[in-house]
Amino acid sequence: MAWSRKSNTRHVPYSVQRAVFRRDDHTCTRCGYVGTGRGDLHAGHVVAAAAGGSADLANLVTLCVPCHDEETRGQVAAAVRARAARRRLPVERHPGYL
Ligand SMILES: [Zn+2]
Repeated sequence: MAWSRKSNTRHVPYSVQRAVFRRDDHTCTRCGYVGTGRGDLHAGHVVAAAAGGSADLANLVTLCVPCHDEETRGQVAAAVRARAARRRLPVERHPGYL
């Protein structure tokens, strides 16, 4: 995968993740799952990185791994649809671009 450190807004620094988890009481904001501190929580974007969302406290929420997977899939699919609609291109055209 092409990966640019400079322009990548998807990466959430560990210190920011910790702050998000602390603020949300180490609890998934979607299903209420309480994290064990063993990597089962993620800091998920409210506004998807793919849609220009930033990786800071105000745009991040605590999600468990399954919820984060679902959210990410939904956000990426929505971003692809939005992009495709704007450009009037088939949705399948650039699945790897995001
Ligand atoms: Zn969850």
